[in-house]
Amino acid sequence: MNVLIVLAHPEPKSMNGALAQLARETLAGAGHTVAFSDLHAMDFDPRSTRANFTTAFDVDFFKPQAEERHASQNSAFHPQLDAEMAKLEACDLMIWQFPLWWFGLPAILKGWVDRVFASGRIYGGERIFEGGIKRGKRAMLSLTTGGSAAAYAPGGAMGDLMAMLQPIHRGMLEFIGFDVLAPNFVHGPARLSALARHAALDVWRVRLLAIADETPIDIGTN
Ligand code: FAD
Repeated sequence: MNVLIVLAHPEPKSMNGALAQLARETLAGAGHTVAFSDLHAMDFDPRSTRANFTTAFDVDFFKPQAEERHASQNSAFHPQLDAEMAKLEACDLMIWQFPLWWFGLPAILKGWVDRVFASGRIYGGERIFEGGIKRGKRAMLSLTTGGSAAAYAPGGAMGDLMAMLQPIHRGMLEFIGFDVLAPNFVHGPARLSALARHAALDVWRVRLLAIADETPIDIGTN
């Protein structure tokens, strides 16, 4: 498989850094081809601006999707975005590794989606959901939280984490055609013992070794 791992954490020695590195090493060791986008190491700019493009469709009024469609037809994306789009197009499996920030994606990862999921090249017209360019390919979220598993269970103090992830699962991953694998959660790593953190990394390693055969989940449309 071609795997793309996208890491969104500012500290390489964090639990997120460890989970991403483990995924990279485990999947490469199992014979998969792994592309790795460490967004902070890349100093990835999350803002969608004219810098996305090497040419302009309308110099008077900046409309991102119109510029994206023009750039798609004219191979006019900034080289860094072009490279990220090529990684996305090539992958059979995509994994996003991130800490839950304000009940959602860290801005740097949301910005990666804003800029890389470009109208024209990545989606548009009939090419959404089941007609999307990533149909038959799989994607999964691997995230850490500050709160406990109980707090994120349905009816818990924080609310149902799966419901919180629905806009990402449905509005981003399934939108461009991916089937979604069950997320990997490590709850409250900072409050776990070192032993428990190592156990969480072991669970992740074992899951990754069998991930080529894993069945997607039904996330529904609510
Ligand atoms: P870290 O604190 O980096 O890691 C925990 C421990 O693991 C560290 O001691 C580290 O040394 C250790 N470690 C690293 N590598 C290894 C290894 N290989 N083996 C064993 N141990 C290792 N939480 C919520 O629940 N909901 C929110 O909405 C939310 N919003 C937030 C918004 C912001 C802006 C911020 C900054 C935090 C927010 N949080 C929230 C908390 C956040 O989700 C957690 O702090 C984060 O998920 C913890 O993951 P980490 O990788 O940063 O952990």
